[in-house]
Amino acid sequence: MTKKTSKPSRELIFGDLWEFDPAPETADPKLKKRYDLFINGKFVAPKSGRYFDSINPGNETKLVEIAQAGAEDVDTAYRAAKRAFDTVWSPMPGHERGKYLFRIARLLQDRAREFAVAETLDGGKPIKESRDFDVPMAAAHFFYHAGWADKMAYVAPGRTVKPHGVVGQVIPWNFPLLMLAWKIAPALAMGNCVVIKPAETTSITALKFGEILQEAGLPPGVVNIVSGAGETGAAVMNHPIASKVAFTGSTEVGKIIMRSLAGTDQKMTMELGGKAANIIFEDAPLDQAVEGIVNGIFFNQGHVCCAGSRLLVQESVAESVLSKLKRRIAVLRVGDPMDKNTDLGAINSREQLERITKLVASGVKEGAEMHQSACKLPVKGFYFRPTVFSKVSMSHRIAREEIFGPVLSVLTFRTVDEAIEKANNTAYGLSAGVWTDKGSRILKMSAELKAGVVWANTYNKFDPTSPFGGYKESGFGREGGRQGLLDYCKLA
Ligand code: NAP
Ligand code: MG
Repeated sequence: MTKKTSKPSRELIFGDLWEFDPAPETADPKLKKRYDLFINGKFVAPKSGRYFDSINPGNETKLVEIAQAGAEDVDTAYRAAKRAFDTVWSPMPGHERGKYLFRIARLLQDRAREFAVAETLDGGKPIKESRDFDVPMAAAHFFYHAGWADKMAYVAPGRTVKPHGVVGQVIPWNFPLLMLAWKIAPALAMGNCVVIKPAETTSITALKFGEILQEAGLPPGVVNIVSGAGETGAAVMNHPIASKVAFTGSTEVGKIIMRSLAGTDQKMTMELGGKAANIIFEDAPLDQAVEGIVNGIFFNQGHVCCAGSRLLVQESVAESVLSKLKRRIAVLRVGDPMDKNTDLGAINSREQLERITKLVASGVKEGAEMHQSACKLPVKGFYFRPTVFSKVSMSHRIAREEIFGPVLSVLTFRTVDEAIEKANNTAYGLSAGVWTDKGSRILKMSAELKAGVVWANTYNKFDPTSPFGGYKESGFGREGGRQGLLDYCKLA
């Protein structure tokens, strides 16, 4: 650390005094030049011979080439999965299946640093997040579900519990490895086989996961990983062998998939967008609440479906909360995702950066007041300053649309009923946060907020045992916990 020479101000904060020297993570991500599709236990070239580049959004350099699966490759993957389901995976006793899941979890732990670095290089999230959150949580999901593999009968006591067969899954770019774990672990635990497509901009850790499956000796065809763009995703969602499909992504694409499957009896789960409200009452411990708000929206650059992107603050403390927020964002460190001190890394892609920039411009145009950190941004790469808007009204686009970036809209309320009405006044319903000293108020709010998850005096806390999912346009079905398993089995 280097001491700054400028005189400290009266309102002293750590970041005013010290500049951090670079502390880059140096572990080797062991990247290949080119990643093929993982089908039937082997890495195979796509039939079309087509590959696309995956770039590092932190500095815009090319990292690797990724195979683009076409409809024929997706078909081969489904046939392999069906064969594996009929001949190996479904006849296998649960305790044997569980061993594979435990093995996968342990191998992920063994290679945790390598996976964390690959995730950060490919997706732009700070290394401290991929190292301390994404990769350990992905392993935790495999450990947790390993324990369920021999307890299928207890998922729904008194009922007969059977796997669906082959499930098709499509995931987004914000938590590439973790979303893969959320999808694959419960599917395998309940005896299903899988065809999964990672997001185009973040396929590396999914394909490296294929190496883990090989190391674990998972029977060929049980999991197949087909990288590609939207058309590949459509082929995965619409294949006739799929007995169930699971999608995580935008509400817009979720609706396209639901339209394409309308009229069929396909089982589906949809984990879609969000516009969560974090609600601060005047009796809340304000400093702790501000830390939670900052974590809720700036964690992973706001690339979080359950990000607390709307802050509802009781009028009597609004000014104090806003000034604390402005001070806090001024010292957030934005920059090289590979630096261990970085708080906000890179925005995942140029398109996403453009979308955020456009929505922020609409906020200014519609009359909200913008407060941005004045931090220096790297010259290369996709970065956006932590941004807080005050004087926001419910009609503003920034208060209604999912921005999926580090942008917080602050609104005020006077009464409990007004807070509930404003929080629920959205097409989404994924999550919410309540900050108050009163237990009774927490109970009332969590009963009345139309959100799948309500955090109280904390935010963005996850655990494999806890179900996660939405209301309204945030989707249906749950992931995690016993409830999540119900979506991966047939009950008779
Ligand atoms: P997206 O554009 O909907 O993409 C999600 C996935 O769908 C990607 O793999 C994408 O492939 C694929 N895809 C695109 N068009 C498709 C089609 N017509 N048929 C089938 N698949 C298709 O979403 P995103 O921008 O990657 O992710 C951000 C969104 O995900 C946000 O709205 C966020 O709220 C939501 N999300 C929700 C949860 C949750 O649990 N509720 C969790 C994480 C994220 P390409 O990448 O190649 O386009
Ligand atoms: Mg990339």
